Amino acid sequence: MPGPIDASAIKARVDLLELIGADTRLKRVALTRGGEYAGACPFCGGRDRLRVQPAHRRWWCRGCCGGPRWQDAIGYLQRRDGVDFIEACRRLGASDGELDRRQRPGPGVRAQQHTDVPHLVEDLEPTCAWRKTGLAFVEEAEETLWSRAGQRAHAYLRGRGLEEDTLRAWRIGFQPDANRRDPAERWGLVAHTPAGRPAWVRIPRGIVIPWLLDGRLWQLKVRTNHVEPKYLAVSGGHPCLYAADTLVAGEPAVLAEGEFDTMLLWQAAGDLLGTATLGSCSRRLSRDALEYLSGCSEVLVAYDADSDGDRGAEQVCRVLPHARRLRPPLGNDVSHFQQLGGGVRDWLQHELAQAERMSAPSPERLQPN
Ligand SMILES: [Zn+2]
Repeated sequence: MPGPIDASAIKARVDLLELIGADTRLKRVALTRGGEYAGACPFCGGRDRLRVQPAHRRWWCRGCCGGPRWQDAIGYLQRRDGVDFIEACRRLGASDGELDRRQRPGPGVRAQQHTDVPHLVEDLEPTCAWRKTGLAFVEEAEETLWSRAGQRAHAYLRGRGLEEDTLRAWRIGFQPDANRRDPAERWGLVAHTPAGRPAWVRIPRGIVIPWLLDGRLWQLKVRTNHVEPKYLAVSGGHPCLYAADTLVAGEPAVLAEGEFDTMLLWQAAGDLLGTATLGSCSRRLSRDALEYLSGCSEVLVAYDADSDGDRGAEQVCRVLPHARRLRPPLGNDVSHFQQLGGGVRDWLQHELAQAERMSAPSPERLQPN
């Protein structure tokens, strides 16, 4: 098996002051912790909101990074250039030999190296510019879904069992242009490729699924009508945890494999439990996702009833001790179960009641020794 990329070796060779200093003017503001530098944020502006601690090889923007969440050089490049982890490593001078050690990116490999915490992937917030453009795009797509141009997409969604109120609540939309490409600059990404050609953000024709969390846009997924890949994400976004704002601390939750199943679960049983998805059964949890889910009393992992689903559920259960695998009684996923006439609400109600019975103290245990 090819080994993971040694991200710390790549980061150790990068001069963070030089890298970020090329995009904004940095001034030394503290001598502690090996020196701290401040400047305007290349992503969201301001005067001194961006902080760089070169000795620790880390940076943070209090405007757009959320919480005090330090990031590294790779994260900086990913965000500035709108590229993936591997490409960011390459742009930071990683040799082909270093990158070839892992030809096929496997879920979690990056996380282990990148955040030094096993089983977690990193949370990288989209830029303010990306969010602004993304929100305008969501509005436009919503309007299209409910217009003539969106009729077929609309019928497809209804065919999946999603009601109109559900589609509106989750702000589902439609992008009708088969070859839409926006200048990358409009999405807050660098305007040119390294070769000097204009850079584009390509958005396929399809159903638009916005990942909104606490009113902020994290990711944009498009369900195309291609066989493979069926789902594409608009570059520059980040999958945090879809529908995480339905989770309530101390209450149970169900984790689905994809967004449509999540919406279906929410529609059928949103008043009984929280519903969320990582967007795929192979995606690992991030710190934020873990935080959201660990507050729940129980997490039912309703991934598809296949070997990928089993593997994904196993990963989740390893990190979350109060999670358990849940297979639909019929069909291979939640949507299929419903199409076959299964009652999603009854099924979940039954599962929750069973869990309650299991956790209730038995009479014997109540007896004194
Ligand atoms: Zn910022």
